[in-house]
Formats: sequence, structure tokens, C-alpha cells
Amino acid sequence: MNLDKAGVVVVGGGMVGVSTAYFLASKGHDVVLLEQRELGHGASGRNLGFLHMQNRHGDYAVELTRAGRALYDDFADILGPSFEYRSNGAMTFFYTDDQRRVYKEFVEARIADGFKAELLDDQAAHEAAPILPPDVIGATFSPEDGQIRTPKFVRALAQECRRLGVRIHENTPVLGLLRNGSKVVGVRTVGGNVSADKVVWAGGVWSTMLESEGVTVPIKPHRLGAVLLAPVEEKLDKILNGPLAAKQYAHIRNLPSYRDEYFTSPSEDQSTGLEHMECVAKTEDGNLFIGCPMDYPDQLDDRMSAAGLKLAIDSLLTTFPNYRSLGIERAWAGLVPATADSLPIVDEVEELPGLVLATGHVYGNLAGPITGKLVAELISGDRLSHSLDELSLYRPSLTAPVDGVIRY
Ligand SMILES: Cc1cc2nc3c(=O)[nH]c(=O)nc-3n(C[C@H](O)[C@H](O)[C@H](O)COP(=O)(O)OP(=O)(O)OC[C@H]3O[C@@H](n4cnc5c(N)ncnc54)[C@H](O)[C@@H]3O)c2cc1C
Repeated sequence: MNLDKAGVVVVGGGMVGVSTAYFLASKGHDVVLLEQRELGHGASGRNLGFLHMQNRHGDYAVELTRAGRALYDDFADILGPSFEYRSNGAMTFFYTDDQRRVYKEFVEARIADGFKAELLDDQAAHEAAPILPPDVIGATFSPEDGQIRTPKFVRALAQECRRLGVRIHENTPVLGLLRNGSKVVGVRTVGGNVSADKVVWAGGVWSTMLESEGVTVPIKPHRLGAVLLAPVEEKLDKILNGPLAAKQYAHIRNLPSYRDEYFTSPSEDQSTGLEHMECVAKTEDGNLFIGCPMDYPDQLDDRMSAAGLKLAIDSLLTTFPNYRSLGIERAWAGLVPATADSLPIVDEVEELPGLVLATGHVYGNLAGPITGKLVAELISGDRLSHSLDELSLYRPSLTAPVDGVIRY
């Protein structure tokens, strides 16, 4: 039975798949997008929406994410205010002199890397974010960071895809590849076959199912959680990161004055790898949201763990004790496809011509849409706006064992 037929079939309705469909359709390709559940079912529908330029490091990652960040100005023109795009920057606050020393070095290093960054003293930090607790002694400010509402972005861009002629089939799990010899000529789905000249696999953490087709995708599920709370009156127009988030980032860990003990909390659980990527922000509606307890589940289990929820709430009540009675609207978690070097995998599989991988995105808001643009250039045979060598499936840095904790 045939479900559809296309020039390109895209597997996965997250931000990578939808962006890929959009850029392909913009170039005139006939595109079908297949999603096993509903659009945004995966990490993209559970994402906090941060555009964190300040935490990208390494020449290529910076180049790629700068280009990814710039795309949002174009998307704002195309999609209007539908996805709560804001460019108010991000702060990371701290409580101790030890932490301040590390963040002073962080700001100096970021400026040397060509970013805009400032170290704010106690007074300036509280003026910029009056919500901060009184015992905060300062903060960094990264004005280039921004914020979106990722689930809304996915839906709005999917709508634009439909307008461009993309046929989107939700509740349509892809079961495997269709092949003619080694050449990939489409996919098998629960609803029938979809033949295509090219298949783009943007299945996020579920891309490991390609193992059954003989393709090993070296990603590891990394679980992040979040909690949405009732609206609060206090002004907060920036993303706030707490000091515990520091240890997640390789470029902060490498600073001379960095010590793990400055950035760990007894509520975290080293024995199970449960750590807190502490952050707080507000939606445009005024709801407070907090994140992100994080760990590495053995299975593809995208439920928030009890310990993860406790960690997030303990941190909220320690930092903002006046929110004790604030209602919780929703708590959730999602799975991010972590790679050993924190760069995505965007490549045509040598053994299976016609199959293009677009997965391994740990910071999909910045790297996701630009991936879509690059895949569209690759498939169209256009000049690539950025090299794809660094994103090869065959690069040595991917073969490092993906066990233990990955630092972005
Ligand atoms: C709580 C949380 C907070 C986060 N916050 C941020 C943030 O602030 N900034 C940031 O940059 N990143 C953040 N991330 C990470 C970001 O969400 C991911 O990097 C990004 O969403 C990856 O996008 P994707 O399209 O590759 O994957 P996904 O969004 O997971 O999409 C993959 C899609 O493919 C579908 N699929 C898989 N297999 C099949 C199949 N066989 N057939 C059909 N469909 C299939 C899935 O159902 C899914 O919808 C966060 C993640 C979480 C969980």
C-alpha cells in the first residue's frame, strides 16, 4: 500500500525535521514530512526556548550557531509574533566570591572570543533582574542571547510548510527504509510506503532505530526536565541561569579558577548522574518556568523522574522562597540526542545513498533551523553556506565513548 510519494521525505516533526521541510519546500522540492505522534512530540515540544549564544564554543560551533541565531530575525518576518521571539539577553547569577572569579574569567574569555558580555555587580544585577534574591552578589550578562517558545515555533513553521505545499502526516511512525539495492528509495510506515528520491532522518533521540538498518547513530539519550508555574507579577524579561548550570559547559570547566565544588549542590546526586542546569525565565503570558534537572536514562524514558522534580522544586524554593504557594501548571521531561562532541550529525550515509541524517542536536534552537538550511542546500546540490565536514557521521570525535556525563 502506498501512503504518498515525494521528492524528499523527512522523518520527524521536531524543529530539525520541520525546518528541513521548510527550507526544502522553499527551494521548490516536493516534500512529505512524517511524524510518529504529533508535531513537537519530542524534545522540541518540551524545550525551554533559550537561544544561548554565550555557551557555544569552538570556531565551528560558534560559526554555525551565529548563523542559526540570525535565522530567527528572518523567521520573525515570516511567522510574525507567533513564537514569542525575544532578544533580551541572558544573565547568570552567583552568590560567592569563588563563583565571581570564575564568571569574571568567563566574561573576559567571551569578549576575547568576539561575544558581547558584561560582569554586573550586585546593584546592576538586581536592577537588570529585580526578581533576583538579595544574597546574589552579581551576574554575567550576555546581550546576544534570546528566547523563543519552541513548541509554538514548530507549529508555526509547520503551518508555513503546509502553505508551501509540504504534506505532513502525523501519527505515522516510520518502520524502516525502502531500498533498491543499497540505494534508499523511501520509507515504510504504519500507513503504507512513501517513495522518495531522498530520505532525511530527523528523528531526534529515536534515530538509534536505524541500527536495524545497519546504521549506527552514535547518540545517547540525555534527559532534561522543566516545570511551568503560575504567572508572577515580578518583571523578568531575560533568561536567568543559576550558578549550578556552570558545570554543564566545557568552556567554563576549562577556566583556570573553575572548581567543581563551587558549582554543585547537595541536592544533586552524583551517584545517579542527576545534576541541575539551573535556569528561570518567564513566558510572554507571565508564567514562570524553571529547569532543568538532567540525567542519562538507560532507556528512551522521557518522563520526569521523582528525583528530578524534587531537585527542580528544592532549587526554586531555595532561590525564591516567596514562591512557596505558587501553583504548578505542568512538569515534564524530554530526551535530547547527545553526541560526544556536542555537535549534530548532518551527513549522507555512505553505505546507504539517499539517506541523509540530521540528528544529534543538543542545543536544537540554535543548531536546528540552520541544519534544515544546510540539508536543503546539500540535497539541492547548492553551494553549502557552511562546511559539513565537522558534522560528518564519520568524524573521529563522535567515536569517543558516549558514556558518562557529556559537557556541552
Ligand atoms: C526540557 C528541555 C529543555 C530544552 N531547552 C533547550 C533550550 O532552551 N535551548 C536549546 O537550544 N535546546 C533545548 N533543548 C534541546 C532541544 O529541545 C533539542 O536539541 C531539539 O528539540 C532537537 O530537535 P529534533 O528535531 O532533532 O528532535 P525532536 O524534537 O525530538 O524531534 C524528533 C521527532 O521525530 C519523531 N520521530 C522519531 N522517530 C520517528 C519515526 N520512526 N517515525 C516518525 N517520527 C519519528 C519524534 O516523535 C519527534 O517528534 C531542550 C530539551 C528539553 C527536553
